[in-house]
Amino acid sequence: MSGRVFDVQRFSLHDGPGIRTVVFLKGCPLRCSWCANPESQRAEAEIAWFVGRQCALCGRCAVACMCEAIRVDDGRVLTDRRLMGRQVTIDEVMAEVRRDAVFFRRSGGGVTFSGGEPLAQPGFLLECLRRCRRWGYHTAVETCGQAGWEDLREAALFTDLFLYDLKQLDSARHRTLTGQGNELILGNLERLLGLGVAVTVRVPVVPGANDDRESLSALAGFVARHRGIRSVELLPYHPLGLHKYDALDVAWSRVEKPDPAGLEAMAAYVAEVAAGVDCVVTRGLG
Ligand code: SF4
Repeated sequence: MSGRVFDVQRFSLHDGPGIRTVVFLKGCPLRCSWCANPESQRAEAEIAWFVGRQCALCGRCAVACMCEAIRVDDGRVLTDRRLMGRQVTIDEVMAEVRRDAVFFRRSGGGVTFSGGEPLAQPGFLLECLRRCRRWGYHTAVETCGQAGWEDLREAALFTDLFLYDLKQLDSARHRTLTGQGNELILGNLERLLGLGVAVTVRVPVVPGANDDRESLSALAGFVARHRGIRSVELLPYHPLGLHKYDALDVAWSRVEKPDPAGLEAMAAYVAEVAAGVDCVVTRGLG
């Protein structure tokens, strides 16, 4: 069995406990306007064209190149061509993961499957999770929740921690922001909590999308009503992924970064309303 992966990051300290290897699967059913990884969204592999770092913009290389590996576009000379996404077998991806087994053991870490949406490739994800469980690695799945319940339920059998994204509690606004309503996402989260699995809710804090009083109050109320939620992480929006939109020739819109003081106040408010649930501001979007 094989799947499509667009990155494997080693030594992450932010995506679950301890030192982690994060496997990023390609494909996502949502189209969040702030997505930091636009290369994750499409299921198929794609080519991104980046501006070369030492480029003097003369364009002579594009004329000389016999194999069309260089492109001139809107005054930019695109010399750095990268394939986003590669097809890998389970054995290949697990061999990459296995390199860091010693760090998992020493730090209490493990493997996190992220994306994109890892449940967009359910068969591949489930087999990876099964192997991790067999080898004794802690497993985490970062999901947007827009997935079939049966796949999620089966994944829960082999997952120690879900990092579950909640972007906006109002379904109409959620649809405007991501292309889909949130009914399936909220329903899946409630069913997961019903299974008693560990869930950390992650909220990408995006000015204009979900940092207003109403959105925050709805989030805090939801967390307060669902006592199975272990903790909440607020992930501030950052614009570091914008160059990838240009490289993929995908349109993007400017969003401001959230105010750090406002973020701390948001975290304090959620923690107060949902008494007993930790709410922290963590590093920005992945
Ligand atoms: S759910 Fe995540 S990966 Fe998918 S579009 Fe939104 S931010 Fe990007």
